[in-house]
Amino acid sequence: MKTYFKLTDLFKTLLSGLAVVAMASCSTVQQSAQDLGPGFHKIKDGIYTFAPDQGTTTCSFVVTEEGVVMIDACNSPLHSRNMMAAIRKVTDKPILFLIDTETHSDHTGNHFIFSPPARIINAEGAAAGMKKEYNPKRSQELAKQSAEMAEAVKGEKMIPPHIEYKDRMTLNVGERTFELIYLKNVHSFADTAVWMPKERVLFASSAANVRTFINMRPTVVIPDVLASYKLMKSLNPEIVIAGHGQPTTTKIFDEYEGYYTLLMKRVGEMAAKGMTLDQVKKELKMPEYADWAGQDRLPVNIEQAWKVVKK
Ligand SMILES: [Zn+2]
Repeated sequence: MKTYFKLTDLFKTLLSGLAVVAMASCSTVQQSAQDLGPGFHKIKDGIYTFAPDQGTTTCSFVVTEEGVVMIDACNSPLHSRNMMAAIRKVTDKPILFLIDTETHSDHTGNHFIFSPPARIINAEGAAAGMKKEYNPKRSQELAKQSAEMAEAVKGEKMIPPHIEYKDRMTLNVGERTFELIYLKNVHSFADTAVWMPKERVLFASSAANVRTFINMRPTVVIPDVLASYKLMKSLNPEIVIAGHGQPTTTKIFDEYEGYYTLLMKRVGEMAAKGMTLDQVKKELKMPEYADWAGQDRLPVNIEQAWKVVKK
């Protein structure tokens, strides 16, 4: 990192020495992901994602001519502070908007690090959902983890979205377009897919994660989840960033479609034999997905599949 800063300073000195007038382009530096630190991926020019492993909450930023647009606020306040530092290595432009892909605190709990100035956006119901789930002891609990965390979480408070949209919203910032698409009943109280049509990059929310059994809340409806995959695939994205896990492609949707379809088939067959939900939860296995993370969430997935087949 130190080397980088020195190089940048040298670069800036050279530029000012040469009296380069194109300062607008100078204020945004094209970075490789390595320069930003561990866990960062360069998705396309000006589009970066923090996704260190299969399970960590992803968060991303997009540089535009006018300013920065973020997608999700990262899980740990330490990640968010790192994210802020990464943004500042790339551009000195303000963070204009922060789009949430869901309401849970592992995506939204650190709004306070970016807002102000960022204006936060999510679908209708997001603010109410966040207020319902907010843990007022969050900062105290985090501060106990380490001195570093205690520092990072300073100033913590819940900031619900400033802007809520219904169904769809188009956000034009500088030369970029972000299409926000409400995904119904897929994960939290309000889930948003963010589609960048020119760049063909899709932020897919936690409707799908990377090879992980998802903690399905009671409000999740599997047929709606499957419909969301169909919709997101129809956009024909080149790169898909899920709510958790490393950047991937639409194969993520194919995998989950296969999984939920097989799960519902097996639950359906067992229900048809007269088994109870408890018996199904005890006996049903999904050996094809033995390498997926979150195996302890299979029973919750079975409950949701049960609701569908028993309808
Ligand atoms: Zn979530």
